[in-house]
Amino acid sequence: MCLFCKIAAGEIPSTKVYEDDQILAFRDIAPMAPTHILVIPKTHIPSVDGITAENSNLVAHIFEMIPKIAAEEGLTGGYRVVSNCGADAGQTVHHLHFHILGGKQLSTEMA
Ligand code: AMP
Ligand code: ZN
Repeated sequence: MCLFCKIAAGEIPSTKVYEDDQILAFRDIAPMAPTHILVIPKTHIPSVDGITAENSNLVAHIFEMIPKIAAEEGLTGGYRVVSNCGADAGQTVHHLHFHILGGKQLSTEMA
């Protein structure tokens, strides 16, 4: 089982901010902004490259919940959503996840 599958299964602890039967949101262990949350599907999808017609409902659900999570976190000034896919993007955990970053003026450099 991969690291985030273990977190989804509760085998590795995390600081949860939202959970339902399909997805989990928890705080990044090494935050890069005052608010840094990861949102994952509970089922294993390796990266954005693994999104298909069969599982994209999970991605839609994640993106429905992101604004609610951001509002709950008080990110009224805005926030950034990022997903690193593959080596050039520096993906380190090979389980699809979306970073929510906010709580400060974020860098204008996207890459
Ligand atoms: P990425 O580099 O896009 O693959 O992002 C992986 C993210 O997972 C990094 O921001 C890490 O800080 C974060 N991370 C790694 N292990 C944990 C963990 N046990 N709990 C929470 N976040 C983690
Ligand atoms: Zn996994």
